[in-house]
Amino acid sequence: MKIFKFGGASVKSAEAVKNVTRILGKYNENLVVVVSAMGKTTNLLETLVRAYFNKDEKKYEIFQEFKAYHKEIMDDLFDGNGIPESLTFLFVELEAKLKKVPSLDYNFEYDQIICFGELVSTQIISDYLNYAGVKNQWIDIRACLRTDDNFRDASVDWEWTEELVQDTFRFNGQNLYITQGFIGSTTTNLTTSLGREGSDFTAAILGNILNAESVSFWKDVPGVLSADPKKMDGAVKITELSYREAVEMTHSGAQIIHPKTMKPLHNKGISLYVKSFLEPENSGTVIHKIDHKIELPPIFILKENLVLITLSPKDFSFISINDIDRVVNFLLENRVKVTLMQQSAIDLNLVIDAPEADLQEIFLELKPFYSVRYNTDLTLITIRHYTEEVLDWMVKEKDIYLEQHSRLTARMLVKQ
Ligand code: ASP
Ligand code: MG
Repeated sequence: MKIFKFGGASVKSAEAVKNVTRILGKYNENLVVVVSAMGKTTNLLETLVRAYFNKDEKKYEIFQEFKAYHKEIMDDLFDGNGIPESLTFLFVELEAKLKKVPSLDYNFEYDQIICFGELVSTQIISDYLNYAGVKNQWIDIRACLRTDDNFRDASVDWEWTEELVQDTFRFNGQNLYITQGFIGSTTTNLTTSLGREGSDFTAAILGNILNAESVSFWKDVPGVLSADPKKMDGAVKITELSYREAVEMTHSGAQIIHPKTMKPLHNKGISLYVKSFLEPENSGTVIHKIDHKIELPPIFILKENLVLITLSPKDFSFISINDIDRVVNFLLENRVKVTLMQQSAIDLNLVIDAPEADLQEIFLELKPFYSVRYNTDLTLITIRHYTEEVLDWMVKEKDIYLEQHSRLTARMLVKQ
């Protein structure tokens, strides 16, 4: 049994869905296929959530855009035979939701709306596969992927999910399941989500629980590359990586794989393949257990849109473990995720993703104790397996705000 995951780009148009169908047709084995929302739908739904929450009438316009995009895809896929009933039902459900008055919990409302991207995309794909003669079963993953109620960043209840997933994906007279990435639900059946780009994590969870032979991510790149080709020239494909290397890369901001993906796969020793849906016959990259030493080229990872926050005790005392404790608790409470932390005698530096809310407001609570300085629009450059040459070239003409070097990894925070 294998798990496949198709991201938004791989299902962004009718032609793309047909390509996925061709790929699936080549595999004659038990498969669970995890699919994201089509194209940039999740971004569009984020604008819908905002409009809905702010009681802005634009919500209906955005809803129409959402519907029209999918309808065009369906018109092509189903040869103009109309929208399948299952889809009409989903659109009606979303529209009904939009007519209701929002609660005061933004994160909760976000998840109740954002899920429609994945629900609609998987329903279209499942219906189309059946229409094209590829028998499959659509699964609402919310019935088995159970989480806590930390909306927008929910944690998986592994024990319960394990039982339900094993009960659902039985492969009894069925060898192809189509389901959603990214979403789950609470004990009381409220929809939750696992964080942006979370479909990778869903695929890894299912792989772990179902003891999959392997998990494959189908992407628009030939595999894991040594740099993002959209941002740097000279990127080369890496044929194999250890779990350890992959986890370091994803944690540093390599967007090819969601950082939470590696643990469930590592724990069960399941190989992860990253392959191109445009050239499915090519081998891509495999991430698996590697005991021997392998040579890797310098790997460049850019994480953009970061903010550097510098806290200095107002009374000029040294940064102590109590300061760190206070700041860490504050960050946890405010759900601020730190990419890098560094201290000097009287400065505590925090590098965080630029938040949606106002920075000054977030850090107000710390103002009685620290003077707070901000630097915005920064990029963290991480170089794994760096050489002196590469470093020299990298730092040239750059305004460096922070630097950290270890044996394998060099990191520098620079102005965007
Ligand atoms: N559709 C979601 C997102 O764009 C989840 C995913 O693509 O993995 O963030
Ligand atoms: Mg995506």
